[in-house]
Amino acid sequence: MKTRSATRGTPRLRNEKNSAVAQKPAPVNGAKHWSQRRANGIVVIEALPLVRQKWLTHGFSTRAGGASRLVDLYAPSKPAEAVLNLGFSEWDERPRVEQNRRRFQKTLGAETMTLVALSQIHSDIIHVIDALPEQPLQGDALVTATPGLLIAVQTADCIPILLADPEHRLVAAIHAGWRGTLKRIAEKTVGRMRMLFGTRPEKIIAAIGPGIGRCCYEVGPEVAKEFGSQFENAREWFDGPYDALAAGEDPNPLPWLTMMPPGHQPPPPSVQLDLQAANRSILKNAGVAAKNISVSDLCTSCRTDLLFSYRREKTTGRLMAAIGIK
Ligand SMILES: [Zn+2]
Repeated sequence: MKTRSATRGTPRLRNEKNSAVAQKPAPVNGAKHWSQRRANGIVVIEALPLVRQKWLTHGFSTRAGGASRLVDLYAPSKPAEAVLNLGFSEWDERPRVEQNRRRFQKTLGAETMTLVALSQIHSDIIHVIDALPEQPLQGDALVTATPGLLIAVQTADCIPILLADPEHRLVAAIHAGWRGTLKRIAEKTVGRMRMLFGTRPEKIIAAIGPGIGRCCYEVGPEVAKEFGSQFENAREWFDGPYDALAAGEDPNPLPWLTMMPPGHQPPPPSVQLDLQAANRSILKNAGVAAKNISVSDLCTSCRTDLLFSYRREKTTGRLMAAIGIK
């Protein structure tokens, strides 16, 4: 069942508009908190509550319009697609990625700022920086209070999260896949901001950007179990046979009951996980006000016309979510 997905990406909403589940209200602070801005031949997605903070710049990159040439492995005769790949991927050439990054920075009005990205490892490691590190840092969140640094995370399905503390003029960029989410990286980043800068969580403005949606993100029993063991309200973030999987049961009937010959049993059970909802809940638990959390309704896997999806495409580019103090 893919019931709750009706509240996610627009294509599915359209398909299911007559079903009962589509009546469920849209996610809090959904589409009306977001806009897309076109400049320099590319499109940048912005969270309007962050746009209103004139002391910072931010943006979530999209797919089209870069110097990189992406070949569709399923249709190799098709001409290569011009894409804004912002990660140093194996299939791409470094100068093209650097050119793309310059174009992205220019579009954010941040061409003179120093871009700082991470070597991401699906951890809960947070780096607080006040200068460009000599070596790329390993970790999954960056925090800075230093003007001129544009901190960024890269994704192609995982959830990018940007935070701003307007009182102390402090920003953070977080990469949250299922492992980082399980380790509460967003909550720990808020904790680090509190500890080092005196941030009041209720003042934080948070933007949870485009990532793989509940509609498309199938995970196995081990992920359901892990979330169930870590979060009291985990079941709200799952569709499918979550309760059985979290309890360690196999929801598939025994093969002899289904009369299926060996090798024809149902596929291994899976559930769908809503990483954006999980991170929204984690931020709320950390004290961030619900009204200050904007959640993008774009699913990377549903919207490969606009975004990159590693799960759907395998060979693809990387999106970037960046924020910095002017
Ligand atoms: Zn989707």
